[in-house]
Amino acid sequence: MLISEIFYSVQGEGILTGVPSVFIRTSGCNLRCRWCDTPYASWHPEGEEMTPALIMESFRAFPAARHAVLTGGEPMIARGIHELAYGLRAAGFHITIETAGTVEPGGIACDLASLSPKLKHSTPMPGEIDSGWVERHEQRRLRPDILSSWLKHCPEYQMKFVVAEEGDIEEITALIAETDAAIPPHRVLLMPEGRSVEELAARSVWLVEVCKARGFRYCRRLHIDLFGNRRGT
Ligand code: SF4
Repeated sequence: MLISEIFYSVQGEGILTGVPSVFIRTSGCNLRCRWCDTPYASWHPEGEEMTPALIMESFRAFPAARHAVLTGGEPMIARGIHELAYGLRAAGFHITIETAGTVEPGGIACDLASLSPKLKHSTPMPGEIDSGWVERHEQRRLRPDILSSWLKHCPEYQMKFVVAEEGDIEEITALIAETDAAIPPHRVLLMPEGRSVEELAARSVWLVEVCKARGFRYCRRLHIDLFGNRRGT
């Protein structure tokens, strides 16, 4: 599979924020979010071909690690991802899969499903990318049926949304209603859209109020606070 980076850091988002983890970022994505902060793994995929066995070997450099995060790009379209997850499970790692939730889990080994469905504002504007991708992104980005499969497959999950404006909240509640599971509000994480501390801070003020009003969980981006928007963090 094509791997854009493997690095050891602390988890920056979600219910395991702060937990030291090895991140395996697969390269390649079936979506093209206009604000994607890892374009080197989606819009312009780059990296090195690695087998699951070779990836497992690289874990020797991180002897204290107990948590592994499969991220992307879209890790669920990476060739060999099931084999890699199986190997990590056999080696005793806690596995988080960070996915947009557009590809069926297919029985993958997973301890925390970090599902991040993409809202309307993620769709590229005409002219930013060829029109075929605008259409494909729009058709693929929300799959309530596949999200429902993930919720059944992995009872430990978080539903994480990048929120740009207050109008996004209605799209989120409509999507949640479409999944055939009762999702408790504290499993719904709202994260401000932004790639800098300043952008995040500007959106966090009203987003915290939305969380208080609806019972959702506010999700910070610790890695941006600690390291800025940089690779390998
Ligand atoms: S799904 Fe994730 S990796 Fe793919 S384009 Fe969107 S933000 Fe980027």
